Amino acid sequence: MATPHPTAIPTEPIGSIPRPRDLIERVVHGDSEDPALTPHYEAAIRDTIERFEATGSPVVTDGEQRKYNNFATYAVHGLPNAAPDGFTIAFSDGHTRTLWRLTRGPFRYARYADGYLDVAMRYAHVPVKQAVISPSALSLMYPAETIPGYSREEFIDDLLREHETEIRRCLDKGAHKVQVDFTEGRLAVKLDPSGHLLNSFIDLNNLALSHFSSDERRRIGVHTCPGNDFMATHSADVDYAELLPSLFELKAGNFYIALAGEPDRRHVLKIIHKYRKRDQRIFVGVIAPSDPRVESPEEVRDSVLEASEYIPIEQLGTTDDCGFSPFFDNTSTTRDMAFAKIQARVRGTALAAKLLGVQP
Ligand SMILES: [Zn+2]
Repeated sequence: MATPHPTAIPTEPIGSIPRPRDLIERVVHGDSEDPALTPHYEAAIRDTIERFEATGSPVVTDGEQRKYNNFATYAVHGLPNAAPDGFTIAFSDGHTRTLWRLTRGPFRYARYADGYLDVAMRYAHVPVKQAVISPSALSLMYPAETIPGYSREEFIDDLLREHETEIRRCLDKGAHKVQVDFTEGRLAVKLDPSGHLLNSFIDLNNLALSHFSSDERRRIGVHTCPGNDFMATHSADVDYAELLPSLFELKAGNFYIALAGEPDRRHVLKIIHKYRKRDQRIFVGVIAPSDPRVESPEEVRDSVLEASEYIPIEQLGTTDDCGFSPFFDNTSTTRDMAFAKIQARVRGTALAAKLLGVQP
């Protein structure tokens, strides 16, 4: 049987949109979980989804308006057995972000991301995707010294169970895709050039992914990027050649790969061409959130055409290089700018699809 001809080039966002300033003000001066904030979160989510849909984006997110304080620690923020003095990520401009540290067992999520999906799906008229944090990122919560009465092995068992639960809840509720944020993959190569840390992250995430069927994995993806916070990165100097061969060993059906901000895109595309597997869809980044200019649809079109030289159309998709505000308090990009860039992605991808003969 011939492979059915694709009817479009799929295009999806990564997740975050800068929060409205008044919401940031209310949250930083109070408690992020204060029920009095609910109508303000809801208003921000409703507005985000309306504006997302107005760009023509066939898939939307809630802009992570309620993910506090960031894409990585939303699930554990405020846990009574964690302290905000854990692993520190250093960015290229000198600023840092600190994750949480587990102080005692057992480890449980404080909240699952399907709670965000519930709200988003009430407002959306098109499919909604949901990003979740990877087990490898949260594994950094366990301190170097053993926690008395709660071994690292017990922690990993609990972590994997919580992560699987979160993904299943999102899939069961109808998430278009569940995207596992794996920004620490490229960072791992920077921290440990031997590759051992990266390999341990890949193994851990694959342990989790192995619990899902191949049908389920077609709705699960992995996002990689060099970090994006206040226009700075944490691992852009790591060559993708050190990351992508291992990345494609992950048992996920979709990969969301930052590419627009790379100095040599063809170098990266050649690596993707060589190491991608037949059952993997590659969403290449065609928008750079940290570039303070809006890409034109024609520029996006040309990036898609370039990528199509290396990735078969039936395996190609487009995305943004990263979320536009992975951390709650980051307003270095405006909401207007984020939606203008998303619109360029959608239009440019459609222009390329037309030229490549993949119109419905
Ligand atoms: Zn990212």
